[in-house]
Amino acid sequence: MLKEEKAAEILFLAPVFKQMLWGGSQLRDKFGYEIPGDDTGECWAVSAHPNGDCTVKEGKYQGETLSGLWEKHPELFGGPGTDRFPLLVKIIDAKDDLSIQVHPNDGYAKIHENGSLGKTECWYILDCPEDASLVIGHNAGSKEELEEMVHQGKWEELIRQVPVKKGDFIQIDPGTVHAIKADTLILETQQNSAITYRLYDYGRLQNGKPRQLHIDKSLDVITVPAKSAEDSVKSISSLPENQLNQIYTCEKYTVFKLDVDGTATFRQGYPFLAASVLEGEGRVNGDEVRKGDHFILPCGYGEVEAQGNMSLILSTVEK
Ligand code: ZN
Repeated sequence: MLKEEKAAEILFLAPVFKQMLWGGSQLRDKFGYEIPGDDTGECWAVSAHPNGDCTVKEGKYQGETLSGLWEKHPELFGGPGTDRFPLLVKIIDAKDDLSIQVHPNDGYAKIHENGSLGKTECWYILDCPEDASLVIGHNAGSKEELEEMVHQGKWEELIRQVPVKKGDFIQIDPGTVHAIKADTLILETQQNSAITYRLYDYGRLQNGKPRQLHIDKSLDVITVPAKSAEDSVKSISSLPENQLNQIYTCEKYTVFKLDVDGTATFRQGYPFLAASVLEGEGRVNGDEVRKGDHFILPCGYGEVEAQGNMSLILSTVEK
């Protein structure tokens, strides 16, 4: 098929990398990125956040930041009615356990975090060891029990470990206690926010001192009781090929998986569609794409033809 003349072009983004105490080298070893060091924990792949604003790699908007485009060309994003680009997509390489955290919702963050958004996030497991688990939720039955377990340091009892495997999808609502564990590689789709409360850090020291915890704020926002373990993890490894499969939708985002084997066609009729190629390679309306590429199909893009052999996770928001 000939490349169709499009009113809007695909926005290919250059990721921003973050070195972390718990980071590793998989973002280079598995994705081929040029990383700043062997302690690289995060690839901010689709981000307009001030802590890591992606730039457009080529075309008409080459060199522009995503936040800049959002300001100057809101028409590219279909006006979802938010004051900033609403999503942040990351790949996370955890070589070590991350601290155990919880996020506030928008209402709490607005009051206690200077107008920031709260944080709803979800994870797609790209790779993990056999018998892997993550921390999702807790075992306290009431607020009183939660407070008692936290104040008495009964972490083993409190923290709920849930088994996971490659291809699982996990929704983390605000108020959910959660942590990524060592040797796990995930794609995270989240609200554009960096507000995190650290509940427990396994008693570890950084430069001889424990990292700051946020116990009071954590206790304020943790949901009791936690959502069940079965309701938290969903396997999405056997979805139909060559179609846009919606895997989750909530107030903050809608997430899709697309497995292309041959040709897939669909319509980009959403305010925008952010896409990450997780495996393989191919073409999107004639543009070559491969594992590790991240791009946005802007508003009004219309018909999309994806060819090749590849897996993608995509996300958008409601208008
Ligand atoms: Zn989180």
